[in-house]
Amino acid sequence: MSSINLEKYRRLLVEERERILANLDDVENDISDADTPGQYELANYDNHPADMGTETFIKARDLAVRDNFRDIIGRIEKALDKIDRGTYGTCDRCGREISTERLNAIPHAIYCVDCQDIIESS
Ligand SMILES: [Zn+2]
Repeated sequence: MSSINLEKYRRLLVEERERILANLDDVENDISDADTPGQYELANYDNHPADMGTETFIKARDLAVRDNFRDIIGRIEKALDKIDRGTYGTCDRCGREISTERLNAIPHAIYCVDCQDIIESS
């Protein structure tokens, strides 16, 4: 555990958070644009059912993307907190080490692969 380079992961996490926050901003702008009455009038002008469907689909997709970004940011915050508490790199569920391969691929991983599978399938 002592061999883990915490500063490297802290930097990766901070960079990832910045990148996702910028994307989250974009998505939130798209969502609030779609909510402006003027845009709706414009979109409804021709009133083709197909267009309406597309718009609803895009909105639902944007909301899902936004939730996903928020979820990842929450995990990044948790991972940064684990760095501060000195528990980074150990699984929050079973306490075993998370492999460095996994941390390199997903710096915000707070569970080992086994626990992640269990949580996602529950
Ligand atoms: Zn685990």
